[in-house]
Amino acid sequence: MHDNTYLPDHFLRHIAAIMPAHLSMDEFVASCRRPLRRSIRVNTLKISVAAFVARMQPLGWQLDPVPWCDTGFWLSREDESVPLGNTAEHLSGLFYIQEASSMLPVTALFACEQTRRDGMLLDAAAAPGSKTTQIAALMENQGMLVANEYSSSRLKVLSANLQRCGVTNVGMTHFDAKVFGQWLPETFDAILLDAPCSGEGTVRKDEDALRNWSIESIDEIAAVQQGLLESAFHALKPGGVLVYSTCTLSLQENQAVCQSLQDKFGDAFSFDSLADLFPAAEKACTPEGYLHVWPQIFDSEGFFVARLRKQHSVPNTMFKPGKLGKFPFLPLPAKESEPMLREIEAAFGVVPQGNLFGRSEEIWLFPQLFEQVQGKLRFDRIGLKLAETFKKGYRLTHEWALAYGDGASKGFVELDIADAREFMMGRDVWPEQEAAGTGEVIVRYQGHTLGMGKWVGSRVKNALPRELVRDNNLFV
Ligand code: SAM
Repeated sequence: MHDNTYLPDHFLRHIAAIMPAHLSMDEFVASCRRPLRRSIRVNTLKISVAAFVARMQPLGWQLDPVPWCDTGFWLSREDESVPLGNTAEHLSGLFYIQEASSMLPVTALFACEQTRRDGMLLDAAAAPGSKTTQIAALMENQGMLVANEYSSSRLKVLSANLQRCGVTNVGMTHFDAKVFGQWLPETFDAILLDAPCSGEGTVRKDEDALRNWSIESIDEIAAVQQGLLESAFHALKPGGVLVYSTCTLSLQENQAVCQSLQDKFGDAFSFDSLADLFPAAEKACTPEGYLHVWPQIFDSEGFFVARLRKQHSVPNTMFKPGKLGKFPFLPLPAKESEPMLREIEAAFGVVPQGNLFGRSEEIWLFPQLFEQVQGKLRFDRIGLKLAETFKKGYRLTHEWALAYGDGASKGFVELDIADAREFMMGRDVWPEQEAAGTGEVIVRYQGHTLGMGKWVGSRVKNALPRELVRDNNLFV
């Protein structure tokens, strides 16, 4: 029981006025005070669900499927001594800690044929990246996903999560998401707008979530949401699909925001009913076909999800191309890229996918569809940094290892648990194996990559980026 959960009277009166007749306020309050069930999503860019379950069950992990997400599970663990984020499986990106109801918007986005894994997609408010990584996994790292975030500090967390999860098809941008309708009209096949909101659905995780709650503040944020939704709608191609979601409960930030778009462009799109999205979805379905997930329905956080399809173009008075600085990258000439790719294949048995671009001492792999948005938008980072170059050659990056290392058929070393712990603590290791190798080596634990190292005699010199070094309580 979370007795300290702050549920002010004026909030409860506001909620009581909009609670559907078949749901009870007592159950709402009781569920807000109950701790949230822990849930995770398996990252299928790195491991199949079956292989993950087979790996974790012997460690005492009980995994109960989330009915609306094939890769989502509620988790209970016999041994909680190591924080979930410090487990080897988390550090090597095999799973993402994500609240179950927050898996719904991406399920809704991909439950229609318009959302193609090789398409051009936008995640308009992306950090910390639970849904970006979910989308990238469903795209199987194909096509391109533009992941935008307005807050600089949260952008860094987004970047770290993309790297840990081996995501290679994302271009990250750092704007107020209202620019997309102006700068990139009718560009995206599918868009997720997981909007900034007042977070009324999150009290089970954060007992102070409602400390500053007021009607005035939700009205203010609803105005922002309306602007973001209208802009995202302009950025959507005719025939495309858009999901609008929040982790809040008030009608102002949910149904009313959808209604405002309907009032403006009603004949140009229609909302889909999500009543059949998964068995029991109708329990949360509104008359308009949205999912309004009250916390007591599925014993989860509160959430709201609406999905629309754009039927045809609308006049766009917003259009105004953005100002771009000079693009610092050049495509890598074939005489440089081909020998490099051949060398990587010879050393590790994997071929990096995508287009190679260079700038000063860096070589990057850009997503397949990057040229569609090249010159239209300033990016913070695009795809994956493959290597850093120096006079006599190049050094493959940690992020390359996390994206490609699990698929390597050679050029890797498998550590035991003691050495794996040492490696994650930033130390060099002396793996017990018959013959030491030479040059750069992918460092793995139980078949999954922890990072890069370099053979120096029988020692593997640690090349883990300093910011990823952990000091204690690692692995079980
Ligand atoms: N989609 C994320 C996930 O699943 O991990 C959560 C997104 S959170 C609900 C909303 C995000 O929008 C926050 O990271 C916030 O910093 C960002 N944000 C706030 N105002 C924004 C704006 N005008 N444009 C874009 N992002 C914005």
